[in-house]
Parts: sequence; structure tokens; C-alpha cells
Amino acid sequence: MKKGHISVNTENIFPIIKKFLYSDHEIFLRELVSNATDACQKLNSLKSMGEYKGELGELKISIALDEEKKTLTISDNGIGMTAEEIEKYINQLAFSGAEEFVEKYKDKTDAGIIGHFGLGFYSAFMVADTVEIDTLSHADGSEAAHWTCDGSTNYKITKGKRKTRGTDIILHINEDSAEFGTKIKIQSLLDKYCRFLPVSIEFDEKVVNNTKPLWMRTPSELTDDDYISFYKELYPMAEAPLFWIHLNVDFPFNLTGILYFPKIKNAIEAEKHKVQLYSNQVYVTDNVKDIMPEYLMLLHGVIDSPDIPLNVSRSSLQADGNVKKITGHISKKVASKLADLFKADREDFETKWEFVDVFVKYGMLSEEKFAEKAKNFCLVHNADGKYHTIQEFIDLSKTNQVNKDKKTVFLYANSKEAEFAQIKEAQERGYAVAIFDGVLDTHITGYLEQNFEEITCKRVDAAPVDQLVEKDEETANALSEDETKALQEAFTKQIADETYEVKTEALSPNSSFITVTEDEFMRRMQEMSKMQGNAMFGAMPQKFNFIVNTNHPKAKKFLAEKPKAQKEKMSKAFRLALLAKGLLKGEALFEFLKAEENNL
Ligand code: ADP
Repeated sequence: MKKGHISVNTENIFPIIKKFLYSDHEIFLRELVSNATDACQKLNSLKSMGEYKGELGELKISIALDEEKKTLTISDNGIGMTAEEIEKYINQLAFSGAEEFVEKYKDKTDAGIIGHFGLGFYSAFMVADTVEIDTLSHADGSEAAHWTCDGSTNYKITKGKRKTRGTDIILHINEDSAEFGTKIKIQSLLDKYCRFLPVSIEFDEKVVNNTKPLWMRTPSELTDDDYISFYKELYPMAEAPLFWIHLNVDFPFNLTGILYFPKIKNAIEAEKHKVQLYSNQVYVTDNVKDIMPEYLMLLHGVIDSPDIPLNVSRSSLQADGNVKKITGHISKKVASKLADLFKADREDFETKWEFVDVFVKYGMLSEEKFAEKAKNFCLVHNADGKYHTIQEFIDLSKTNQVNKDKKTVFLYANSKEAEFAQIKEAQERGYAVAIFDGVLDTHITGYLEQNFEEITCKRVDAAPVDQLVEKDEETANALSEDETKALQEAFTKQIADETYEVKTEALSPNSSFITVTEDEFMRRMQEMSKMQGNAMFGAMPQKFNFIVNTNHPKAKKFLAEKPKAQKEKMSKAFRLALLAKGLLKGEALFEFLKAEENNL
């Protein structure tokens, strides 16, 4: 027997490990099973290099839980270790890693760094008081070795019991970690971290992993059904995806994976199923926030890359050159996939548009390079039901929507329902109206104005329909100056307040007598301030224009009425205009309805 003292300057490393890694104890299983996987793969390599002459057999890992004895054993039939190797790899190497760890991260609590410093094996001490290793090296004539350590810096090496090649790691689970002594817990951890590990893993005599996950296979051998069933395997509750991209890069970095486009109806729903990040088939995280641009997080699937420094802190991840290159690459692939789909079958692309709309727009607003490509396949939904590219829609608008400043007026509506009347009126004049009812469309108007020259975006209720496209010519006013003034004054007296400003306009006699409009610029400012939580300008009140058409036949009639009748007419006109805009609410709506009912 050999007793030894592990050479670390720090008095006792384990309390520190335990404290720092407190939040993420469960990763011990990932670390130990990864080590077992490595041990199997190393032997496999030795065999193929001709360095190992014995039988490989079926390389596998078995996990056994003794709920009574509270032991968890992770066994593999990989390369194993000699006593000297334990000395070298476990006692010395690992501890130098531990020291470095403690030095660097005294003040931080980032459990992710554990593997980075070769602390993988020692993570066992987060859940176990005593850990044993029983191992027999693959090398000819080796003797089994047994190592045990109780969480102090002292260890013991004796002769081992193992008769066959490989290693058992035996954890005596401590009282604080009782949760790891149940089958359900271990099963769930294996599902989470080890589901796609490349070496077969048995727990309770059942294989728990898929050693050749789809992303590691050759795309040309795979069918659509393969991709769809793999998606179901990843997200059992999700609806089938729209399409997918199989990523496979080996230069200048290594990256494989499959990204699925889900049917995104709203961002929250999409983010329920996250992209999973793997490193050589070991699950690392589904918190890819700092690795992927946010809009790519609306996608689902897996990314596997040993080149993403998985175990360093988040802030350094963002600065990492590889991470930047990888996200750039993914973003490029995604854009070209969409471009291909658009080109290959536009009709089909149009049927899918409503589900990729949010994703594409999010990408365009957040990444210039993506936008450069996407602006050619980003579709605009015309109120008449057709889809156009942005440029096509602008060209269409050019026919009769050019204003006096030679700008094309890009008309849109945020709701087909709420703006029904205005859309209809605009269409009657031959105008094209885009339906912008998505969550990001408020921002898209700004994007369009900045990136497409000679256009100005206007919501259909920004002005009376005759004035949506401000032309040079003026319409003659059927009323005299005095009559106009009288009309203006009567309505102002009755209606105008902080919210409603009364204006008279000489519009076409066919236009409505009364229209409520909302100035485009002011509305956008108000929406912006609302989105920023009113931080910038304080709460900006909504303001409306109440426009009276002096050319409407009713205008002259109105002026001829007695004051009492005028008052009643104005009150009703006002309420009707509000009703049309969905602005008549609460008590005012109640009273209006009551009065109407009495008139029945
Ligand atoms: P890392 O895996 O990052 O090298 P670990 O602390 O997890 O750090 O392991 C230290 C070393 O101990 C490994 O590199 C390996 O040489 C050895 N080792 C750990 N587990 C096993 C095992 N199951 N079989 C053979 N060798 C192992």
C-alpha cells in the first residue's frame, strides 16, 4: 500500500471546490461519463494505430446505483490506468489544475470553468465524501490498482480488484447530495448530458444514449423523415419544423449541427425550445445567449463544436475569436438557406412566410450582413393577399403613390381589422397597402426608410385618404373662408381638447365628412417612447386629428342647422368617428350604446 499527500499549497481544496461549484453540482456525472468515454475512445485509437493488440470487444460504459449503500459506480472498459498513471494523471495533474483554478477564480462563481482546468474528475467530490478508483490498464501484464480519497488532500493507493480492462469510479454519495442517490435523478441527468455520447452507456441494463446522433451523419444518407424524427427526439412536444440546415464545417474551425426552423408564431413560444450546444457529443448547455446572436436563438436544434471554449466564463466567450467566426458562419448559412428556398420555389416560400417573418425581420434588424441578403427575400404581405419582395412592393407603389417631393409613399396598416375602412379607401384609389401586423414591424418601417431610398412609410390612418400621398395640386374648397371658419370654430368648441385637435380640410366630396387621423411622426415617437418604458421623453400622450371635410355635402347642410341640432350632430359625429377607430370606450361607449338602443 502507498499513502501519499497531494501537493497543493491550499490547505484543503475540496471545501473550495464545493463552494464555488455549488450552483451546478449535477455536472459531476457529465464529467465522469465524459472521462469514461475518452478512456474508451483512446483505446479505440490505440487499436487502430496498432498499438493495442488485444480484443476491443464492445466498448461501453455502465452506470450502477446502489440506493442502499448510497454508491454510484461509473464503469468503463477503456484504457484503464496503472498505479503510476493514477499518480500522474489524478494526483498530480488534476491537482495542479485545481490550484490554478482556485488562484484564478477565488472571487468568481462560474461552475462552467471546472473542466477547463482538469478538475473534471474532482467534481465527484461535490457530491461524494469518498471516491474510489478501481482500474486495470489495457497494457500487457498490468496490475489492477485501487485509489481512494476522502476529500482531504490525502489519498491511498493499494492493489485493485478489477479483473478486466477498464475503470470503475465509485462515489460514496454524501448526505447533502442525497438527491443524486435516486434512480430518477440519475436517469434524468443521463438524459440531459449523455444522450448523444459516442460510446454506449447502460443504466439499469438499458442503453440510455444514441451514439450516432443525426448531426454526426452524412447529409446525403439522410431523409426528411430522419430529420423530422430527430427533431421529435429533441423536442417531443413541439410541432414539426418547417425546414432545416445541416451544418458541417471543418475549417477554420470545427462545427457540426442541425438547425431547424420552427413555425414561429411568436418569439416567446419559439424560445421555449432552445438550441442545444454540444462539445464532441457531450451536452454542455442550452443557454447559448452569449454564443449566438439573439435572432438565431429563435431556431431550434443542436450545434456541436469542440472549438467553442465551453468551459470559460461568459464574458470571455463573447470576446473569443472562434465564437465570433462561428456565429458569423451560422448566420451566413441561414441566410443562404432562406435565399435558396425562395429561389427554388417562391410559391412554397410564400406559404411558409408567416412562420419565418419574425425570424427574418429580427435578423435584418440585428445584423447588417444578414439584412444585406435577407432584404431580397423578405416578403411584404399586400392587403390584397399577394406577397411581394420589398423592392417589388416599392415598384408597385411607384405607379400612383409618388408625392410632391418625388418620394414613394409606402403605405401600411398594423391591423387588417382595426384599419379596415382606411385600407379599403386606399385600395379604392389604387394604392398598395402592406399589412405590418408583426411584433417587429414598428421597427421595420424605420429600417425600410433608412435602407431603401426615396420612400417614406405611412400608416393608412396617418391622414385622410386624399392626403396620404401629398400631391402638388390643391382641391378647391366648396365653402367660403367665413363658412370654413364657422365650421372649424363650432367643432373646436365642442370637441377639441388635449387629445383631439380639430382641422378643416378641402377633401374630395366622396371622402368621409369626419375622419380621425394620427400623425405618422408623432405616433412613431409615442410608440418608441412606450417601448423604451417612457424613459426618454416621459409618457407621451397619444394625439389625434379630428378632420372635417369642407367639401362633403354634409358640411353646407350642417352650417344651415340651428345651434341645438348642430350640437347633437357634432356629438354623434364625434362618437361615430371614435367608434370607427376603436377609441370609444368605457362609460362613453356604454352611454352611446344605450342612446342608440333607445332609438331603436
Ligand atoms: P481531464 O479529463 O480534463 O483531463 P480529469 O480530472 O477529468 O481531467 O481527469 C484527469 C485524467 O485522469 C484524465 O486525463 C485521464 O488521463 C485520467 N482518467 C480519468 N478518468 C479516467 C478513466 N475512466 N479511465 C482512464 N483514465 C481516466
